[in-house]
Amino acid sequence: MVYKNYINGKWLSSDSKKTFDSLNPATEQGVGKFQKSDKIDVKKAIKSAKKAFPVWRDMPAPERAKYLWKIRDCLIKEKERLAKIEVKEMGKVLKETRGDVQEAIDIFEYMAGEGRRLFGYTTKSELPDKFAMTVRNPVGVCCLITPWNFPIAIPAWKIAPALICGNTIVFKPSSDTPLCAIELAKIIEKSGLPKGVFNLVTGSGKDVGDEMITNPDVRAISFTGSKKIGELILKKAGIKKVGLELGGKNVIIVDKDVDLELAVEGVIWGAFGTTGQRCTASSRVVVHKNIKKKFEDMLVKRVRKLKLGSGLTADIGPLINETAVKKSASYVSIGKEEGSRLLHGGKARKIKGKGYFFEPTIFTNCKSEMKICQEEIFGPIVSIIEAKNMDEATKIANDVDYGLSNAVYTRDMKTAFDVINKGETGITYINSSTIGAEVHLPFGGVKGTGNGTREAGIEGINEFSETKAVYFDYSGKLQKAQGIE
Ligand code: NAP
Repeated sequence: MVYKNYINGKWLSSDSKKTFDSLNPATEQGVGKFQKSDKIDVKKAIKSAKKAFPVWRDMPAPERAKYLWKIRDCLIKEKERLAKIEVKEMGKVLKETRGDVQEAIDIFEYMAGEGRRLFGYTTKSELPDKFAMTVRNPVGVCCLITPWNFPIAIPAWKIAPALICGNTIVFKPSSDTPLCAIELAKIIEKSGLPKGVFNLVTGSGKDVGDEMITNPDVRAISFTGSKKIGELILKKAGIKKVGLELGGKNVIIVDKDVDLELAVEGVIWGAFGTTGQRCTASSRVVVHKNIKKKFEDMLVKRVRKLKLGSGLTADIGPLINETAVKKSASYVSIGKEEGSRLLHGGKARKIKGKGYFFEPTIFTNCKSEMKICQEEIFGPIVSIIEAKNMDEATKIANDVDYGLSNAVYTRDMKTAFDVINKGETGITYINSSTIGAEVHLPFGGVKGTGNGTREAGIEGINEFSETKAVYFDYSGKLQKAQGIE
């Protein structure tokens, strides 16, 4: 089946007349053909979003919220179908794709509520008979560029706040998961949004993304993806509002004297959930030396029970594509060359001769400065580093360029608060894994993980609104601030 772009309320073929395939990573079979769009398509979509902007901006926010409720209701109805489509196109296991759709439902619900808040604040003026307040205004045309690992939730995390704030949208999904994006767009279409408010253009980052970033009619770019592309966008975008949600090199710290079974479960979920392809994946584990051996034995025993295969039946699904398999395999070689010890896994696998599978892999005796402990692998590979005490563990945790999520298993209050206060991340978990964000809290990171924006929660509204200061003088005379006579 050939899928089209959604521009100005219509499903349109690309000006390029070309298409590309998206593959099921478990079977290597195509799931559909998609428009290989070019600059002309993007320009059309931006023009339609620009035209629709005044209509959408001027609609009262509680009215806009009604569309978000409809989208949320439709997502609830379609949850199981969407989750299965996501297994087919992205590969992760069904219980996780259900979670992905649920996150989209949650964010539309949360942001619909914002329609009756979108708070500014009032304050006192320094002059008499003058009133001061702030209001939130939309930014304008927003371009959203997303990755493939949460192909429903991440777009939803951007679309819902952008819409409620009164912006219009051009959305470019990853070329690895365009079908999920089309299915989401169909649901958005069903809500009856005025034409042009939401537009979808498929195609590569180079052909589609570049025009989005540089087009002068675009006022904001919200990007989730790799650090490399994030940096490129920042350089090219010029004076636009840019939100970057980039990679991670997240860590779980395991203190002595903890419930080791609980910690092992946390590492299994954090390191191998979504086959390690989460920005918040636990790719490093820093373990207290007293319990390292016991922890490793328990971890390996548990990993041996994990079944690799189709996301519909197995515990661990495939990687997204062949490039990802090669990347994981290359880090296994690097890990061995660097002198760490392979405790489990390390090989690419096929099932019935097909699929981009990779064994859950554990390295131990790793040193923080090793490449496998510094670079984002984005595969099912976890590196264990020993620490002699929790002060050292906290330092190791911070010894990376990224700063998204960290976790600590501990019974000691001081250790927990040291990780909260000294950990250089945007998210910290105490006694659970590095993953598990909830939509009413801000999501994002520090250092190489982003440029200070946060998604979801009230902070998600900041990314898609401009704060205006309003001074209302009812004195009937010219009053000057700063005491000027
Ligand atoms: P990616 O290669 O950076 O791609 C992300 C998006 O950018 C895709 O839609 C891609 O399009 C597009 N793109 C590529 N080149 C571009 C260009 N020159 N200009 C504009 N857009 C361009 O990342 P990915 O492999 O899809 O996703 C994995 C990365 O995302 C990891 O680093 C992960 O940590 C990060 N991530 C971060 C978060 C977070 O919230 N912090 C969440 C999830 C994932 P095409 O691929 O279609 O060409």
